[in-house]
Amino acid sequence: MGKLYCVIPCYNEQEVLPETSSRIREKIEELISKGKISPESRVVFVNDGSKDETWNIISALHEENPVFQGINLSKNMGHQNALLAGLMTVKDYCDACISMDADLQDDINAIEQMIDKFNDGFDVVYGVRSKRATDTFFKRVTAESFYKLMEGLGAKTVYNHADYRLMSKRALMALSEFGEVNLFLRGIVPMVGFKSDIVYYERAERFAGESKYPLKKMISFAVQGITSLSTKPIKMITGLGVLIFFVSILVFIYSLARYFTGHTVAGWTTTVLSVWAIGGLIMISLGVIGEYIGKIYLETKNRPRYIIESYLGDEEENRGDL
Ligand code: UDP
Ligand code: MG
Repeated sequence: MGKLYCVIPCYNEQEVLPETSSRIREKIEELISKGKISPESRVVFVNDGSKDETWNIISALHEENPVFQGINLSKNMGHQNALLAGLMTVKDYCDACISMDADLQDDINAIEQMIDKFNDGFDVVYGVRSKRATDTFFKRVTAESFYKLMEGLGAKTVYNHADYRLMSKRALMALSEFGEVNLFLRGIVPMVGFKSDIVYYERAERFAGESKYPLKKMISFAVQGITSLSTKPIKMITGLGVLIFFVSILVFIYSLARYFTGHTVAGWTTTVLSVWAIGGLIMISLGVIGEYIGKIYLETKNRPRYIIESYLGDEEENRGDL
């Protein structure tokens, strides 16, 4: 029976917090009474520099009931950073933690299934939306094409999974080894490894208030996801360069033919040829430089090169902090 910590990032969520907190408290109490989680389980709200009453509400909740805890960030750091702040704070106290949104879009009834999976020995349990009926057409199309694009670009993510997931203490410990500043958690968690499973839930409508992800933020989030997980766009430059260089060979043949059949003005052949050949070569060179920059980029992320799941041996001190 492990200690469960729920981490909930909140940005200007005064409209939803009273409802979210009471529903989640009921759920936690239910799970405690069923003996599925420890009575020392907690709900941690991370206030991401809200400009409204969010922090006051969180403080009042904490006063009222110690099951609620709060972390106040010095300014708005963005959803992913707020979430990481919460996860890294609770990793030392919890046995497992569940991250979820404040707006009740993530069905809290899935918590029980996640806990069951955790008790069955899974370290990571992904909440996956079974359907998006309640999302607007626009949100659904943009979000789904984003997941497809990510897949096409070789960035491994779990389809239709956002940030509603359970992670065990050791998965969190492993996550803390990732030194990246450009955070895209749902892409990093699969890299952590360990046994994982999926729980399906129906995505509800936002309980109240407005989405804190307007189109502008959504696009920059998508770009963040792609550029922080994949260096494939760089490889595409190299590919394009090679393609153009091949075209230049065709142009070479074509223009020589034109030249020898006397269909050209003076200077045309050399001009056309050099434009294509040099264009292709420049692209290839850019691609090569890009490859190295891509490598430097990955190096600077300082990701762990391996994560040990278990160790069979008798030297206690060699086990590290698993
Ligand atoms: N959020 C945050 N900081 C931000 C933006 C959002 O902590 O800068 C939180 C927000 O309070 C919510 C979660 O991230 O708990 C997801 O945001 P939202 O529900 O607005 O996104 P959507 O569901 O519309 O994609
Ligand atoms: Mg939402």
